[in-house]
Amino acid sequence: MVGAGLSGAVIGRKLAEAGHRVTIIDRRSHIGGNCHTERDPETGVLVHVYGPHIFHTDDAGVWDYVNGFETFLPYINRVKTTSQGQVFSLPINLHTINQFYGRTLRPDEAREFIESQADTSISDPQTFEEQALRFVGPDLYKAFFKGYTEKQWGCSPRELPASILKRLPVRFDYNDNYFFHRFQGMPENGYTQMIARILDHSGIDVHLDVRFDPLRAPDYDHVFYSGPLDGYFDYALGRLGYRTLDFERFNYQGDYQGCAVMNFGDREVPFTRITEHKHFAPWEQHDGSVCYREFSRAAGENDIPYYPIRLVEEKEMLAAYVRRADQAEGVTFVGRLGTYRYLDMDVTIREALDTADTYLNHCAAGTAMPSFAFFPL
Ligand SMILES: Cc1cc2nc3c(=O)[nH]c(=O)nc-3n(C[C@H](O)[C@H](O)[C@H](O)COP(=O)(O)OP(=O)(O)OC[C@H]3O[C@@H](n4cnc5c(N)ncnc54)[C@H](O)[C@@H]3O)c2cc1C
Repeated sequence: MVGAGLSGAVIGRKLAEAGHRVTIIDRRSHIGGNCHTERDPETGVLVHVYGPHIFHTDDAGVWDYVNGFETFLPYINRVKTTSQGQVFSLPINLHTINQFYGRTLRPDEAREFIESQADTSISDPQTFEEQALRFVGPDLYKAFFKGYTEKQWGCSPRELPASILKRLPVRFDYNDNYFFHRFQGMPENGYTQMIARILDHSGIDVHLDVRFDPLRAPDYDHVFYSGPLDGYFDYALGRLGYRTLDFERFNYQGDYQGCAVMNFGDREVPFTRITEHKHFAPWEQHDGSVCYREFSRAAGENDIPYYPIRLVEEKEMLAAYVRRADQAEGVTFVGRLGTYRYLDMDVTIREALDTADTYLNHCAAGTAMPSFAFFPL
C-alpha cells in the first residue's frame, strides 16, 4: 500500500482483517496523509497541518466506520466572509441577503427579489460567471464569488465551466450550516489518532520516510498506489495540473477572529481565507491560538498537489495516463491522487472499503484486479 492516508489505511485494514499481510509505506514522516493533525506544542491547539478538514457525510456506513475508531464530537461548519468592508454569513442565506441589501425580506420575498436581480437573458449558462449572474445577479456575484474564485483558481470565472457552480448557491432561510449532510463532526483527538487506530492491526506494517519505487512493484502480490498517477510513470507524459496552497501560519494570544473559517471575497486581499484551528475543536479551551492565512496558486514541481484542475487540457493528459495505467499489471490506483479527483474524506473511505471488497472478490475468484476500482474519467 503506497500512502498512509485514509485510502491506504482503510484498504490496508480491510485486507489485514481478511488475513493478508499488508506493508504500508509513505514518503512523509507521519501517517494520515493530507488529513494529518498534530498538537501545537506552544498552545496545545490541534492543528490541521495540510488545511482544515471537516467530516460530513450522508453515508451511514462510513459514519459508523469512523466512529468505530474515534469519538466524533458535534461540529457544525459555519463560515463567515469579509467582503467590501463588512462581515457576512456564508453560504448566502436570508441573513446575508437582508444584511447585504439592508432589507427585512421574508423567504418568499427574498426569492422574488433575487430573481429580479438575476440576469434572465442568460438562458444556457456556459461559464462559472454566466451561471452566477443567472442565479444571483451582479451584486452578489461580485461580493461573494468573483474575487474569491479568481484567487482560488488563478483565472477569470469566465474561463471556468458552469458546472463548478452546480446548483443555486443561495438559501432562503436562516440556515448557515455550510453542509447539507446528515452527519457532521470532528474527531475528538484528530484524524491522525483515528488513522493510527485503523492501522493498529497485527497484519499491518507501516514504514515512514520511504518513497515507493515502481520497479519494486513485482516484490508484492499486489500494489495499491495512492500517490500521484503521473508520478507513478515518472511524469513521462507531462504533469497533471494541480492548485497548491501556501499556508502562512501565525500564533495569536486570545481569539483572533471568533470563528473557524473567515473567507475574504475582495480581490485586493491576496489570501482566500484565514482558518483559526482551535475553533474546529469547540469543546477544548486554549488561551493561545494558531491561524493559517491561505494562498492558492498553480502547483510547481516541488509543491504539494492539492486540488486537481481537471479542465479540458488536463483531462486529455489524464486519459493518456489512464491508458498507460491500464497496461500496468499488479497495481491499482486509488484515492485522490491516484485517480486525480477531488474526493472528500467520506467518499475516500467509501471507495477504499469498496476497493478492498473488489480485491477480495478477485482473490476468491482467481481473477486479476483492475488498475482502477473507480474510473478517473
Ligand atoms: C486543502 C484541503 C482541504 C480538505 N478539506 C476537507 C474537508 O473539510 N472535508 C473532507 O471530507 N475532505 C477534505 N479534503 C479531502 C481529503 O484531504 C481527502 O479526502 C483525503 O486526504 C484523501 O486521502 P488519500 O489517502 O486518498 O490521499 P492523501 O491524504 O493525499 O494520502 C496520500 C499519501 O500518499 C503518500 N505518497 C504519495 N506518493 C508517494 C510515494 N511515491 N511513495 C510513498 N508515499 C507516497 C503521501 O505522502 C500521502 O501521505 C480536503 C483536501 C484538501 C486538499
